[in-house]
Amino acid sequence: MGQKTKYIFVTGGVTSSLGKGIISASLAKLLQGRGYSVTIQKLDPYINIDPGTLNPYEHGECFVTNDGAETDLDLGHYERFLNIATSQSNNITTGRIYQNVINKERRGDYLGKTVQVIPHITDEIKRCIQILGKEYDYDFVITEIGGTVGDIESLPYVEAVRQLKWEMGKDCLVIHLTLVPYLAAAGELKTKPTQHSVKALLELGVQPDILVCRTEHDLPKELRQKIAKFCNVAEDAVIESIDADTIYDVPLLMEREKLDKVVLEKLHLDSGGTAKLEKWKSFLTRHKNPTTKVKIGLVGKYIELKDSYISIAESFAHAGAANEVQVELEWIHSENITPENVAEHMKGIKGLLVAPGFGERGIEGKIEAIRYVRENNIPFFGVCLGMQCAVIEFARNILGFPDANSTEIDEDTPHQVIDIMEDQKAVKTKGGTMRLGAYNCEIKPGSKAEKIYGQTQITERHRHRFEFNNAFKSQFEEAGMSMSGVNPDTNLVEIIELPEHPWFIGVQFHPEYKSTVAAPHPLFIDFVKASVAIREREKAQSAQGI
Ligand code: GLN
Repeated sequence: MGQKTKYIFVTGGVTSSLGKGIISASLAKLLQGRGYSVTIQKLDPYINIDPGTLNPYEHGECFVTNDGAETDLDLGHYERFLNIATSQSNNITTGRIYQNVINKERRGDYLGKTVQVIPHITDEIKRCIQILGKEYDYDFVITEIGGTVGDIESLPYVEAVRQLKWEMGKDCLVIHLTLVPYLAAAGELKTKPTQHSVKALLELGVQPDILVCRTEHDLPKELRQKIAKFCNVAEDAVIESIDADTIYDVPLLMEREKLDKVVLEKLHLDSGGTAKLEKWKSFLTRHKNPTTKVKIGLVGKYIELKDSYISIAESFAHAGAANEVQVELEWIHSENITPENVAEHMKGIKGLLVAPGFGERGIEGKIEAIRYVRENNIPFFGVCLGMQCAVIEFARNILGFPDANSTEIDEDTPHQVIDIMEDQKAVKTKGGTMRLGAYNCEIKPGSKAEKIYGQTQITERHRHRFEFNNAFKSQFEEAGMSMSGVNPDTNLVEIIELPEHPWFIGVQFHPEYKSTVAAPHPLFIDFVKASVAIREREKAQSAQGI
């Protein structure tokens, strides 16, 4: 664009979970489709430095960036929509803001002054927002403010937005996402919560420029006029965000509502023409019109909260579309699987993914499920802890070490087939200390992994403390498990596979963090393909009465 970076803030009102992340990503997609460079940032008003130490039940999945930041799951949506990597600068928490300010205070940067929320905390927030524009030179920085307007903990963020709006004038705008609930008893959509949440913003000195109204029913013209009048926004800046079948519909719904046009007009940019979204639309067509279905089991211990595995679920959506197949995920709780009922749990399943995780809970169920699919030639995909469980299972049932385990689970086992990484042994603190982010992996020529990736040098993201114990490597390889991917610098095993099995691959890394709409991950694509092939094989066999 060659001009100054434009800043767009997305706030939320009335209630949480309205989908600010998806609206931000959808607007970003529309702007990207018009040729602009865009990034999205999330500001989280909690005191943790990052979500890395949070239980998934608290905050869903922890997403990991290339540069090793443990971040909010919305960053996963940003990457999946835009196909552009995010970094540490894209997710900032109150904890980090305060930590930066307190470090500066200790250094003496504020010598002689009282350090206060305004201006010191708000200045640090403003600095973290503007870094993306200044250092990376994006045309647009979209900043999503976590939480709901009116929360005590969001106040410094809204104040920072007020100041930036004042300082930047036409280079900045605020989109407020609200809820227009439908009262079934009255048979009406209600605008009052929106009016109140805009009032709450106004009390803090921020006039939103655009209102995105989440609703279950179409917003009639009179209602839009009413909202516009009460909230001092133009009528065309009242945007309807109706519940969608899939999150991937939202960019097109926002385009239909002209969100991108209104944004560009308000920022005094050319709003003619439309976004180029051909690839996106072709993905959506394949996603919504599968030619067939396949049932894939996902074994994990947080399955009550599907957000815990959101990147895996979305990777299956991408891989399903690539294969023109609808992947039906069967969520299986690892704690419920026993040797007696495993066959029952696996009924109808054509592929099994065992999920990442930490700690002992549910481990034995995961191992049992892996034994079943290994013995029954059902495709298996193990991710991080899932790969480690596959190693334990092989050690117990093929190498004949019934006590084999990971030292994360049993420190005293004589067969420590998964062990703490050397450079993790001295680590005592928990926050941000795992092996995190992108590392290289060298793939063995001739392996299944090489065939799938189509190359021998890859880079994938990590989040773990334990690893395959190389002391056992030759025993595993002699018994038929191939260590087909290794880190060239440290020799850490990154990929395992069973060449004799139709599809049995475990990875120490997290491929799900790299799958996007524009670039579905090859391992997920091939795994889905193999699962469909198993189903076709079974169909053919039953037709022949085998
Ligand atoms: N708990 C295991 C480790 O730390 C696996 C981690 C994961 O699945 N992300 O190595």
